[in-house]
Amino acid sequence: MKVLLILIDGMRPDALENIPFAQELKKKASYTMQGTSVVPPVTLPCHMSLFHSVDPTRHGTTTNTYMPQVRPVEGLCEVLSRNKKRCSMFYSWEQLRDIARPGSLAVSQLHSVKYVPWEDCVKQSTQGALAELPNADFVFLYMAYPDDAGHKFGYMSREYLEAVAFCWEHVEQIVSALPEDYAVILTADHGGHDRTHGLEIPEDMTIPMFFLGKPFAPGKELDYVNLKDIAPTVTALLGVEAPEDWEGKSQV
Ligand SMILES: [Zn+2]
Repeated sequence: MKVLLILIDGMRPDALENIPFAQELKKKASYTMQGTSVVPPVTLPCHMSLFHSVDPTRHGTTTNTYMPQVRPVEGLCEVLSRNKKRCSMFYSWEQLRDIARPGSLAVSQLHSVKYVPWEDCVKQSTQGALAELPNADFVFLYMAYPDDAGHKFGYMSREYLEAVAFCWEHVEQIVSALPEDYAVILTADHGGHDRTHGLEIPEDMTIPMFFLGKPFAPGKELDYVNLKDIAPTVTALLGVEAPEDWEGKSQV
């Protein structure tokens, strides 16, 4: 089995109500609209927790500035590449370069929002991920657009909801083109309120999560799923042993 992980930055569960493909995925995938982020619900700490299956207090990155780990926990891409699995990531926010150590990625493709409009970042990252699917064992596709719209116009604003919908057009495109041996995990890193996020409140902490593929029962609603559960779920799907330090539980 191979895994495509899609993360839509700042996507709240209530932003999906008018997105037909999201509603369709609720029938095809195991899912939760009550998944939880980590504290603080901030982009880089969340991604570090997702890829290392520990809380920010343990990996040490508690802001959007990366901190080298004091007592290093092995990350998902390091574990997979050590087990000869090919990992690739497609992203649009350069700080994410630190979620995998040098040497653990086959392809690392940045379409920086500094130089490319948001829509093109989503498009080009999706195209890159699509092309890499046949070669890779684990592909990470990241879309930042909704979080930017949330900060600029407010979470749940019209502009924010349009950004979420734009990302889902590309989710539909890549999920529909998926080779049969792939499972998909789709999540957000955190939510948001007003024009910000980072507080331990439901609006910031609650995220939607979908698990699609043969091992996951269609239409099953999952309970108590946390961001930290994703890395052990990916290793379980790929038949690789999870490090002892990891705190999350596999959903397989
Ligand atoms: Zn974020």
